Amino acid sequence: MNAQVEQYGVIGHPVAHSWSPFIHGMFARQTGEQLVYRLHDVLPENFRAYVLDFFSRGGRGLNVTVPHKVAAAELANQLTPRAERAVAVNTLAIQRDNRILGDNTDGAGLVHDLRDNLSVNLAGRRVLIVGAGGATRGVVAPLLVLRPAELVIANRTAERAHTFAADFKDLGAVRGCGFDELGGGAYDVIINATSASLAGEVPAIPASVIKSESLCYDMAYSKGDTPFLKWAKESGCARAVQGWGMLVEQAAESFQIWRGMRPQTRPVMEALRERASA
Ligand code: NDP
Repeated sequence: MNAQVEQYGVIGHPVAHSWSPFIHGMFARQTGEQLVYRLHDVLPENFRAYVLDFFSRGGRGLNVTVPHKVAAAELANQLTPRAERAVAVNTLAIQRDNRILGDNTDGAGLVHDLRDNLSVNLAGRRVLIVGAGGATRGVVAPLLVLRPAELVIANRTAERAHTFAADFKDLGAVRGCGFDELGGGAYDVIINATSASLAGEVPAIPASVIKSESLCYDMAYSKGDTPFLKWAKESGCARAVQGWGMLVEQAAESFQIWRGMRPQTRPVMEALRERASA
């Protein structure tokens, strides 16, 4: 490794599609920080050895994406409280004592996007999260801090939603259910945290969860509308947003952990939107 320039990157499998190098490259230019940020496509069986080698050769930090977030939590020498809650890590950082810190910035990224970019106030609102995978694990606690009237986690495999809700029930009004239990009226905010959009699918939830003033938020993002956004608009939702903002905000949180400063996110979001619509 080049000892002059500090090394960062994103580790996943597959990872070639990742926008993280573009985002962190813009953050580095904006803040005048000297760093290199690369893609690391690594199979699950090689994850641990690869990460330990990266840090032993002077690497400073890694973003972690599918399918390694739980393995990263197991590898870290120390977890932040929010990563410990999530049992999933999306940011690894080497510390002064050479111990590896694991953090999870997904929840903070989503909250920044909802609250600061989209001006959504969750206090007293009914919120539905669809999906109970790694992304949901990272966002439930930060969403409950905003004191929604109720946070419902609905999952295709209902049992997983029940387990999630039980894990977080000390933090607020949260319950889990299957899709067939979603007949009880509309929600103010509906967050799609399934990976269905990646397969061109929409989770089989009833359109009655939507009212015209609902915000429908897909954590997934793509050029043009995701399948969930198309479905939400067809079901009468006036405000449907995809997860570009969360992507940039969670990256800004990681950058802050690594470099001690939070970059401006708006110019990066604008650049991404331009690229995604090109
Ligand atoms: P996981 O693989 O951990 O979880 C997948 C979830 O999706 C499970 O709950 C699964 O249900 C559900 N699911 C998959 N396919 C379908 C389907 N066809 N119908 C209904 N449910 C389905 O994924 P992650 O939690 O890591 O990621 C979820 C999404 O969030 C992805 O699209 C990812 O790209 C996005 N994401 C975006 C971020 C951002 O910054 N914008 C950050 C992190 C994630 P079951 O349990 O029944 O299998």
